Amino acid sequence: MDLFQELAQLGITDQRVLDAMRRVPREQFVPPFLRDRAYENRPLPIGNEQTISQPLVVAEMIQHAVPSTDGRVLDVGTGSGYQAAILAELYERVYTVEIVEPLQRGAQKVLGQLGYTNIEYRLGDGSQGWPEHAPYDAIVVAAAPRAIPPAFIEQLAPGGRLVIPVGTARKQHLTVVEKLQDGSLREMRVAPVSFVPLVDGDPG
Ligand code: SAH
Repeated sequence: MDLFQELAQLGITDQRVLDAMRRVPREQFVPPFLRDRAYENRPLPIGNEQTISQPLVVAEMIQHAVPSTDGRVLDVGTGSGYQAAILAELYERVYTVEIVEPLQRGAQKVLGQLGYTNIEYRLGDGSQGWPEHAPYDAIVVAAAPRAIPPAFIEQLAPGGRLVIPVGTARKQHLTVVEKLQDGSLREMRVAPVSFVPLVDGDPG
């Protein structure tokens, strides 16, 4: 069974998400010595003590974000750029923020080589979102704060969704916050997860 059949069996029912994941060459986002493991359903190290997320977790997060082809999405924690690539397949415009400089540079290079032109990059602290391009139809966060930063909620469009791991290294839940059309919020905890902490503050 290949990775994508496995994802479908594990509950990824949104065909758009599965198709987008098939189109993105994950081996381009991992270090050369790990390329033969790129299609295993596992996180892998990418240097600077960070990891490329597990394919299932990426797929779940994007499925919860509910892709819309004309939408704008904020991706916090660019890392390898893998999730940004899948988002770029699904949304009109992707805004991605990474705090670790070599990772930011590496991701921008790979995504450029793969021909993505609908991604904007920022090096810096994404814990306050990226207000200049708000509001977003979706905000997807790949690192865990202890509590949801209010900036993310503020920068969500009506009807938009925030998908974010919340908690400590020991106890963390993937959380989905939906901002309804009238501005009220609906929050759901969807699964226990294990992400690196969201760093608070600017680099350097
Ligand atoms: N989406 C990535 C997953 C990377 S892991 C991928 O597909 O590969 C999470 C990333 O969040 C790490 O690269 C880490 O450096 C970054 N990060 C942590 N705190 C951050 C912050 N405050 N702002 C931006 N990025 C942050």
